[in-house]
Amino acid sequence: MRFLGIIVAFLSLAISLNAQENVNPYGLDITATTAAYQREIGENDLMELIDLGDYIPHLAFDIRYAGTNNFTGSQVYTSGRAFLRKAVAEALAKAEAELNSMGLGLKIYDAYRPYAATLKFYALVKNTDFVAAPWVGSRHNRGAAVDVTLINLQTGDELLMPTAYDDFTEKANPACTALPEEAIQNRDLLVGVMRKHGFTVFQTEWWHFDFRGWEQYGLLDMPFDSIDYVRHTLSR
Ligand SMILES: [Zn+2]
Repeated sequence: MRFLGIIVAFLSLAISLNAQENVNPYGLDITATTAAYQREIGENDLMELIDLGDYIPHLAFDIRYAGTNNFTGSQVYTSGRAFLRKAVAEALAKAEAELNSMGLGLKIYDAYRPYAATLKFYALVKNTDFVAAPWVGSRHNRGAAVDVTLINLQTGDELLMPTAYDDFTEKANPACTALPEEAIQNRDLLVGVMRKHGFTVFQTEWWHFDFRGWEQYGLLDMPFDSIDYVRHTLSR
């Protein structure tokens, strides 16, 4: 019986090692357990992922990877929630407040993205012109990047922009000028307000913004539910 027990233990160890390999096949330094994430926050509370729905008034959400209306055509996230690291969330709250004073607001398409989703995107597309290289990871995996557009605060309608979200054409380049004047004005307003609060627009995607100092945030592969678990444990 003892011998059988040893075999079972060995097999389960082999399976868990294999699962670990699948999660991170490139040997990246990724925070992927609640214990590691909790330790990270314990050392520096700016590492905490903040739930934007709780934190920023008037913010609108259309988390595309929580449904099927995205380039993969399938649901990638378990729920339509959005998280960012604390300092990033604070800066975004300031951008939102400034836009609110103009009768406008932000709508979030994507924020923190678990690394597992980056692996999935690459497996589907296999072209790093369009998706993040999984051997590097995405700035979304660091909780330091956000995909946004502008809305009318009263109606909730999106303002006219150069392209739809995740459009992989030239028109998505934030410097593109072959566009209706109104789309250029709206895009430039978004880029200007975000820049004022520490965000830089991505060179090929008018909707993608990286927060300054994104390099200081490590890669994460924490499912949304695990973030909640840690938050509740901390507040106990
Ligand atoms: Zn993005």
